[in-house]
Amino acid sequence: MTQSIRNIPAVHEVIKTFETSNQQVERPIPAEVVKGWAQYHLRFLREDILQHPSNYENVTREMLMADLLFKLNQEVKSYRPNNLHQVLNGTGTVLHTNLGRARLSNKALERVIEVSKHYSTLEYNVSEGKRGSRHDIIKDLLIQVTGAEAAMVVNNNAAAVFLILRALCKGKEVIVSRGELVEIGGSFRISTIMEESDAKLVEVGTTNKTHAYDYEQAISENTRMLMKVHTSNFKTVGFTKEVSVEELKGIRDDVEQSSSNGILVYEDLGSGSLYPFRHDGIGEEPIVKEALNKGADIISFSGDKLLGGPQAGVIAGKKEVIDLLKKHPLARVLRVDKMTLAALEASLQSYIYDEVSDNPTIRDILLTEKQIQGKVDVFLRELEKELSPLNWKIETGKDTSLIGGGTMPTVERPTVGITVEKDGLSANKLEGILRKITIPVISRMKNTKVFIDFRTIDEEEIPLLIQALKEAEKLME
Ligand SMILES: *Cc1c(COP(=O)(O)O)cnc(C)c1O
Repeated sequence: MTQSIRNIPAVHEVIKTFETSNQQVERPIPAEVVKGWAQYHLRFLREDILQHPSNYENVTREMLMADLLFKLNQEVKSYRPNNLHQVLNGTGTVLHTNLGRARLSNKALERVIEVSKHYSTLEYNVSEGKRGSRHDIIKDLLIQVTGAEAAMVVNNNAAAVFLILRALCKGKEVIVSRGELVEIGGSFRISTIMEESDAKLVEVGTTNKTHAYDYEQAISENTRMLMKVHTSNFKTVGFTKEVSVEELKGIRDDVEQSSSNGILVYEDLGSGSLYPFRHDGIGEEPIVKEALNKGADIISFSGDKLLGGPQAGVIAGKKEVIDLLKKHPLARVLRVDKMTLAALEASLQSYIYDEVSDNPTIRDILLTEKQIQGKVDVFLRELEKELSPLNWKIETGKDTSLIGGGTMPTVERPTVGITVEKDGLSANKLEGILRKITIPVISRMKNTKVFIDFRTIDEEEIPLLIQALKEAEKLME
């Protein structure tokens, strides 16, 4: 055993041998990265020798070195200089939270580059030559698209909910229906945010039914808010009843007539669509303007869900309430940067100028089966032009795609895609190989076959997809 341990090469020897044997790659791998790999595999080898000494009885130093080199070369193959990089979304889910939710329009991207590359008017009033406020940059646009008196932006909608509860309801009671105490993906729970904000949660009603009288009976001198939360990612069906924002406003107005507590009605819209998908028969997402018209004092919604912009949280409503929020110290903590503001400004402008077809989120949700079939046809034609045909079985197939991002949970849009199969390879293996290439293809399963949904594959991405399949084929050899 001690002999085997003595056979382990030193880190610098491994690195040197690797460097001399390694054919040059496009961009040299940083020395620190190679050293990290060498240290990792040497540590692993040492432990393995200590645990299974008999396995190493006849193993020479040269054999250990060869094995280490093999492992480092494996590392080179899967090495990616960037941990955050492009993938091809073959899931068909337009707002895929794990794949970055909304994509930005070209106009929004251009604006991000402009204000990040150059100095900008972030907090500078050019006409007066003095300090300005970043809140003012998109205030007017937000007012136009939401129809509110005033509006502001924070980091995301979770931050918006937190700021609203903390700044307006700290130490006071907030009444929420038990049917709306939702959890939205990655550990965002209304009840937890409420606790962190020091607002006191008063739950009313039951999971399936909450009535107006439940709110009426719960209102006390300490009540500061009636909060409505859009149940974005699930749907209750059957024996159900919820209280609308109109009704909440009615309840509040009745109470305020007898005693003026300053109770606010707040609706967390979640996605908060600016585009009326509902009018196209797609889902039942609340439309921001309509929600405000129904009487909420304030609302909040995400920037990177159905709006199709950057990650952000929009708060809109009564001016006096927004002014309070803007003045709160947390507003500074939760503020957005110039890249977000630039992307959001451009994304909102597309609604004003009626250019929503430039918005990838809206465009892709609206895509019809026929339009998606068109993209599949382009793919098949381009594939035929390839000199060395792929040795795979590729078939066109129909299915349905989800919207995702915790919105429109029951909506299934008709779609078209391809199933890919390869002789002698299980669907799971194939799915894994498609994830291991330079630009990974994220697919899904359909009847135990790998399916690539073309709703979320852009026409301009088709050459990349063909390239990806060719690369995957090489990995299978
Ligand atoms: C998605 C969602 C949130 C969280 O929004 P983020 O922008 O992801 O922070 C909060 N409330 C509801 C109802 C949601 O659907």
